[in-house]
Amino acid sequence: MKKPLMRIPYTELFPPPSIIPPTARSLPGAVAALQEFLHAPPLPLQPPSSQTLNSGPGSSQPPGSPLPRSTVVLTGAGLSVASGLPDYRGLNGTYRVNKTYRPIYYPEFVSNHPARQRYWARSFLGWSTLQNAHPNAAHYALRDLAGMGFLSGVITQNVDSFHPRAHPGLPTLELHGYLRAAVCVTCGGEVEREGFQKELARLNPRWEGFLRGVLVEAPGALETEDPRERERRGVRMNPDGDVEVPGAPYTTFRYPACPACLARSSSAGKGTGTGPLVLADGVTPGRVEVDDDGAWHPAGNAGVLKPAVVMFGESIADRVKTAAEEAIDGAGKLLVLATSMATYSAWRLVKRAKDRGMPIGVVNIGGVRGEDMFFSGLDPGQAGGQGVRLEMATDELLPALVREMQQSGQGWSPSAESSRGENVFKDMLS
Ligand SMILES: [Zn+2]
Repeated sequence: MKKPLMRIPYTELFPPPSIIPPTARSLPGAVAALQEFLHAPPLPLQPPSSQTLNSGPGSSQPPGSPLPRSTVVLTGAGLSVASGLPDYRGLNGTYRVNKTYRPIYYPEFVSNHPARQRYWARSFLGWSTLQNAHPNAAHYALRDLAGMGFLSGVITQNVDSFHPRAHPGLPTLELHGYLRAAVCVTCGGEVEREGFQKELARLNPRWEGFLRGVLVEAPGALETEDPRERERRGVRMNPDGDVEVPGAPYTTFRYPACPACLARSSSAGKGTGTGPLVLADGVTPGRVEVDDDGAWHPAGNAGVLKPAVVMFGESIADRVKTAAEEAIDGAGKLLVLATSMATYSAWRLVKRAKDRGMPIGVVNIGGVRGEDMFFSGLDPGQAGGQGVRLEMATDELLPALVREMQQSGQGWSPSAESSRGENVFKDMLS
């Protein structure tokens, strides 16, 4: 029986890291250690432990056979900080953006109309910040490392879609979904966020006016990279792309219903060929009610749209969980970038890699959950081939690594084994 993987916030502080190898405190030292990490010959696969039995094709490999040579990358919110998006955690692992920030939980979202009004109002205001933000040098450095044949894919916890934008040729698995679409809780159909945003503007002209006012009167208030500056101007941006406006009348906010469910609900019994609308339990008849302008009305019970992200308190879909395990099993090394691995869904992937005998590299400013375990048993004299632990900004370190490798003409052709990783989760590209 598979346990559901739930996304929950984790607020403990993590102890500061020990830099591995000790020579990697400087930028040149860190670049040298990462080169050693990427170039090191593959280690043998370890026998599966009880935790990793029966999960993924990797466990069918005989223990002792060499692991693939390629590296799979796992990224978190810190990677997008240089793009102007806020991180959940500060240097010491504390919630620095907004101390009162309490993310909405999935059960509350799906059961509570006022909670959805509040969520979509804040998301409506926050969208322009995300829309105007772009991938940064770290994302493009991963594209370049992939071009040199070192990477098999990226697993990201980020919902900003920067990875698929920066490196469409390198597969990205978005562990916690993405903000670029809204998904229907009833039928699972997706609505592209751009059009959804226009619908929100049409249904909420006063909010649209407020948003324009903020953009005109305080240009940059939503875009500024400095959270304190945003706060000073009366808006607070949170890491899932939503904005908080103190005292805003959220109860006036309207959001559209799923167009597919609305069509089925209003055409029920009229011979359109589509069956009657049924809720996700497969039994309860569904009904979508909308007001005169087409906004979702609480008299109905279906057609609620949610962001296509895994909300806190929501389980990760089994197909995503399996694809992430397969991405780990399709590589020989794991490089963790800019995440404290506070969520179990990410942490367990690193544990899986460690159990398989894969060298682990971690680049993160601040401590990482349970990281000592990932670096146990390393030869104290190793230069990075068995593991690296760096504390540096990814948008400086990774481009420096790429420059160094390009100048020295390093790289190797992707082998059959590294392209296998691409096939494993090509279905996850979206
Ligand atoms: Zn629907």
